[in-house]
Amino acid sequence: MPKMLCRCGKVVGLGEIPSSNQWMIISDTMITDEDWDDNGLNMSDFYKKMDIVVKCPECKRLYIYSKGFGNEPEVYNLEE
Ligand SMILES: [Zn+2]
Repeated sequence: MPKMLCRCGKVVGLGEIPSSNQWMIISDTMITDEDWDDNGLNMSDFYKKMDIVVKCPECKRLYIYSKGFGNEPEVYNLEE
């Protein structure tokens, strides 16, 4: 997904790797003691456990794709 249209009308570019508009999140409970002890942590495998978040640089909405880009995201907007 090289770009997406935010609900505010801004086209959010995602083509750059890494992208300043894309964030990755993971629940604290999914980071295990083994992960902390593993100096050779496989970042590629670890990355797959994370949810993708797209942040609109204009309105700051967050689109959380916990089931991948193929599914509808949860959308969070700043309170007034
Ligand atoms: Zn926006």
